[in-house]
Amino acid sequence: MVEKERLTAEEFYEEASRTGKLLGLKCERGHYTAPPLRSCRICRSRTLKVVELSGRGVVSSFTEVFVKSKEFPLETPYKLALVKLDEGPSILGILDDSLNKTLTEPIIGVRVRVEFRTLREYSKNGETKRPRIFFTPDRTS
Ligand SMILES: [Zn+2]
Repeated sequence: MVEKERLTAEEFYEEASRTGKLLGLKCERGHYTAPPLRSCRICRSRTLKVVELSGRGVVSSFTEVFVKSKEFPLETPYKLALVKLDEGPSILGILDDSLNKTLTEPIIGVRVRVEFRTLREYSKNGETKRPRIFFTPDRTS
């Protein structure tokens, strides 16, 4: 990957669909930012470098979604979770069914890893495919 200082949402998803990698930004003071913003989420520095993140973290919060949308064609209900990545930033994604259905213990605090899955989305511009962030159990840690 070419060393870059900016990361657009399109590039973030393009890399995800091509390689499955979760990209983020790192400032000169070592703070990580994800999903991509124009400046560091902590110190607001604009001196940033695009880096690959581990894609691993811990569920810090979640909510259950009951209403299906045509832009987001998932079977309901599903759980939308906020995961604090090992590098620090928090990202939003969908909890995998294996966490939805078999988990008998609390979800908050569970270690997960990011897995991009492509969903078909329908909008006024027609059908598009875009990778979405899912969280699956991290059994390696
Ligand atoms: Zn910073």
